[in-house]
Amino acid sequence: MELTAAPISLGADMHALVSNLYPICRSITGDGFRDTLWYIQKMLPLELHEVPSGSRVFDWTVPNEWNIRDAWIANDAGKRVVDFQSHNLHVVNYSAPVRRRMSLEELRPHLYSLPEHPDWIPYRTSYYRESWGFCLTHRQLQSLPDGEYDVCIDSTLAPGHLTWGELVLPGESSEEVLLSCHSCHPSLANDNLAGMAVATYLARRLAERPRRLSYRFLFIPGTIGSITWLALNRAGVGRIKHGPVLSCLGDRGSLTYKRSRRGDALIDRAASHVLRHSGEHTLLDFVPYGYDERQYCSPGFDLAVGCLTRTPNGKYPEYHTSADDLDFVTPEHLAHSLCACEAILDVLEHEAHYQNLNPYCEPQLGKRGLYDGVAGKRELPSMELALLWVLNQSDGEHGLLEIAERSGLEFNVIHNAATALRKTGLLELCGRHGARS
Ligand code: ZN
Repeated sequence: MELTAAPISLGADMHALVSNLYPICRSITGDGFRDTLWYIQKMLPLELHEVPSGSRVFDWTVPNEWNIRDAWIANDAGKRVVDFQSHNLHVVNYSAPVRRRMSLEELRPHLYSLPEHPDWIPYRTSYYRESWGFCLTHRQLQSLPDGEYDVCIDSTLAPGHLTWGELVLPGESSEEVLLSCHSCHPSLANDNLAGMAVATYLARRLAERPRRLSYRFLFIPGTIGSITWLALNRAGVGRIKHGPVLSCLGDRGSLTYKRSRRGDALIDRAASHVLRHSGEHTLLDFVPYGYDERQYCSPGFDLAVGCLTRTPNGKYPEYHTSADDLDFVTPEHLAHSLCACEAILDVLEHEAHYQNLNPYCEPQLGKRGLYDGVAGKRELPSMELALLWVLNQSDGEHGLLEIAERSGLEFNVIHNAATALRKTGLLELCGRHGARS
């Protein structure tokens, strides 16, 4: 996988997008989520969709909409000792409104800190059980003297809407690739914003290319967003043939792909192939935990949707803390992730089965201009080797990805060889996606 496919300047652009969205206090509903989608709409023709609070979506109910203006804990002297304005992680996301004077002892059950990382603010949520709370650094917590505190969370939890953003890029085929990213976390850079930035730039680049497949991008609140989308789009779900959930794509770790529930779908094989050629990487089997692949891979749908990350959720200490900040994600790693996504999509676009039309002994490639004609080399250039592999394996049974795997060559080299052989009339397309036509 060559990084030149995604110029490093795109990494800087993606990092700038992460930086611009970072201050917004997002949640699974509310104005922070809308502001985020409006911002992305400046870059992509995203369609915004809304469903009202109280809507039943399978076994779930769309919750009341949450909005927040301000929150603080102030000491006797009126000084804010914990302030939402300095970091939006200071408030437990979805906190009910509160305005009260209380002792530190009464307040303590509502305070969350991380003793093992005393300078980090944890990220906590309370979506489906009404409560309130504050998150603070352990140092802040330890510095609070006993006494009375004024506590204010100026939030609203009221009937409103759940919002998501959707973009379809149609291709020659109505078969779809689903690219889904959760967009509901407040100031967390890797966990949510990095995936959204990669999805945004991937969509912009795909929009300018000829496409065999169609692509559907979803910017949704985690869990309830994918459940809502699946509930409302149940009839069209059969068009989704492949999909990676995109998340945590900006940290310095190596790439990780978690397979779909099916385990051997084309997306699983394509992602495994690309990662194996990308250097250090991790391949994981499906587990019903993680991001929205949990919903896409629920048994009623069982879609071929895996999850692409760098370091996976929960596997880095900065996960769900204020240390998942703008320094935690780098332009280089965002660019590398974008490049990996494009390489995976290239496999999906070009996977095919071919028939060798000259199967009785090797055709003479030199006279067709496909061989440089210099004999006796110790090692064949990979393109020439790829020509031999494609010719040998193209009996209609073996797809290009399988040939790439068997030969140890990269998919794009195999695909280029197949294209060259087709042009000379030595090869004929006989099927797509592992199925012979
Ligand atoms: Zn998260």
